[in-house]
Amino acid sequence: MASNVDGYVPASAMVVVAHPDDAEFMVAGTVAKWARRGAEVTYVVITKGDKGSEDPEMTPSRLTAIREAEQRAAGAVLGVRNFEFMGYEDGYLQHTLELRRDITRLIRKYRPEVVMCFDPTSRFISDFYPNHPDHRASGDATVDAVFPSARDRLTFPELLTDGLQPHKVKQLWLGNAGQPNTWVDIAETLDLKRQALLKHPSQLAEDIAGFADQFARWAAQGQEMMFAESFRRIIFDEPFATPATRATGQA
Ligand SMILES: [Zn+2]
Repeated sequence: MASNVDGYVPASAMVVVAHPDDAEFMVAGTVAKWARRGAEVTYVVITKGDKGSEDPEMTPSRLTAIREAEQRAAGAVLGVRNFEFMGYEDGYLQHTLELRRDITRLIRKYRPEVVMCFDPTSRFISDFYPNHPDHRASGDATVDAVFPSARDRLTFPELLTDGLQPHKVKQLWLGNAGQPNTWVDIAETLDLKRQALLKHPSQLAEDIAGFADQFARWAAQGQEMMFAESFRRIIFDEPFATPATRATGQA
């Protein structure tokens, strides 16, 4: 089932992550490649990232502003067109119906072909990193918002009164996945990924650029490419849907 989707470019992609800088680690090379080829990319950052400092002089509100600016600068390097900052508190994220509804609202607003988020089943990323709880919660809420909440007219009916019609996402791409089935060759955009990571100086030292190379080589292991980002890709197919159901929310 392994696939290298070098030729696939969605018309639009929405990246939903927990913190400013998550997207750069997980998808920067892929979205830069897609944006170059005309995809409209939207970043959704759920928390303010306002706990990410050990500086006793730093305040949460100052850090929020710094990290939003860093995220916009990093996205600009990659060609990201839209940014949404949801303003949830860093470190305390939970998979609630409120969070699922708020993400559903954004999916219905931007109507992306592809949604990318953390694989919520990844409890331990490696022998030296248990996955951050905000990452897991953001992945759970996003997967559930994509399917079935964004699709189903009668779920969160309050969104209809806001004029947001149901929307069917065509593909879900899960990053930090324990069982990837898709590899994207990012050799042509690896330098943009490095530059984007370097736009987060409040979080990342300059040697992050070297680590970006290592991560990309590691992700490419066993594939016929040098540098990769890997994903578990879910392609929605509804062979049992009625014609009326199929028509609902189709772009
Ligand atoms: Zn994070």
